[in-house]
Amino acid sequence: MSNLGFHSLFHRTSAFGGLRTVRFFIERGKELFSPEASIPAKKSLFRASPPTLRSFNIILFTVAFELDYVNIVRMLELSSIPPLSNERDERYPLIISGGIAPSANPRVLSVFSDFVCVGDMDDLLERILEILFRCNFRKSENTLKEIEGFEGIYRMDGRTPKRWVKEDITVPAHSAVLTRKTEFSDKFLIEIVRGCRHNCTFCMTRCVTRPVRFVKSELITRTVKSVIAYTRKVGLIAPVLTDHPEIVEIVKKMNSLGFVASFSSLRADDFSEELARLLKANGQKTVTFAPETGSFILRKQIGKDLADEDLYRAVALAAANGVKRFRYYFMYGLPGETTDDVRNIVLISKKTMNLIFKMGCTLHLSINPFIPKKGTALEGESVYPLEYYREMQKLLEKELSGIPGISVKFESLRFLHIQHQLSIGNLDTGYLLNDCILKGSMRPFQELGIGGY
Ligand code: SF4
Repeated sequence: MSNLGFHSLFHRTSAFGGLRTVRFFIERGKELFSPEASIPAKKSLFRASPPTLRSFNIILFTVAFELDYVNIVRMLELSSIPPLSNERDERYPLIISGGIAPSANPRVLSVFSDFVCVGDMDDLLERILEILFRCNFRKSENTLKEIEGFEGIYRMDGRTPKRWVKEDITVPAHSAVLTRKTEFSDKFLIEIVRGCRHNCTFCMTRCVTRPVRFVKSELITRTVKSVIAYTRKVGLIAPVLTDHPEIVEIVKKMNSLGFVASFSSLRADDFSEELARLLKANGQKTVTFAPETGSFILRKQIGKDLADEDLYRAVALAAANGVKRFRYYFMYGLPGETTDDVRNIVLISKKTMNLIFKMGCTLHLSINPFIPKKGTALEGESVYPLEYYREMQKLLEKELSGIPGISVKFESLRFLHIQHQLSIGNLDTGYLLNDCILKGSMRPFQELGIGGY
């Protein structure tokens, strides 16, 4: 429920007249759970027994991370729906998927989906639903052909025109359900920018969602005002918030209406005194920056033109305005990386701590292996043998341990090669995934990776 794409699907299908929409989640890869179906019978939408996934006409998946393909196959299996689309006939629901990961590379997921949407979903979803509604959800050849012809639907011949909103975003994604049970407890999330004007060569978001487009400030205000009776907390969502030309005015307007805004993604080189004051006025205590790598030269090579001095300046400014917790995102295993580049992660972290320690601040480092993503300039790069990551992890752990105020989290290496294959893969990768899940072993996938497990 922290994925805005998921909220958007739920909101738009619920608003489509005549449809009953239900959310399903998978827990621990083993059990399906639906909040709507688990409401006590009297209040439930369902008079009789709760529905299974298989009993629906359409199943929609929105996918931000490739590893969720594994969960999709498991969800279908748990629901007695053949995961491979070529093994399903008209007795089974129509399966449509979309989201940032399949927009970058629809091939792997196309093995499991009847349709994969590539690019912006604005109005495409409604057009598909209209057609299906008109034919009473029968999967006739004509219906499928009509949908297949839409711009933004993946075609096997590779000639898939990406669908994208060409001017301002007039249907911003926003929260459809407010609940205390998620990470963004009772916070109303709203998209204010789509796309990013920066040029980081590793970034899938940039490739899939470009060019940068904005939601007009009046529309943001109107949408946020509509939830005033339910919450006063607003999360502004964008690849980079400061890309919005009216960000300061938007936040001031939110505040004048009695809302407290929170700021998700900030760039250190855009961080101004005015922004720091806004953070303070909204009581924000945590700020995240992404230096990506330890040394400026490598950072520049991957398209992130952020000088160390800009990072320190932004941190000092934020700390002086009441921020207490800082988070840095780093990657290692980048093409052309040297041990010194990795060591510089320690250097940057120590220098940051020297700046903020006396102010009672902490620094959390999130250090993840770089995985080449389809559609990016680095898609053809390899991943290193596992030994390399282990060695670098040891080096960093040793040099960072015991520094007061610094904590570190390394992303697990367990799924590194699987995620890489799912990101750059093709139809065969999809079939291999299906086999692996059927046999209960991911070993064939791991053996595709350099170094194996
Ligand atoms: S600034 Fe962030 S969102 Fe934009 S291209 Fe770079 S990594 Fe991607």
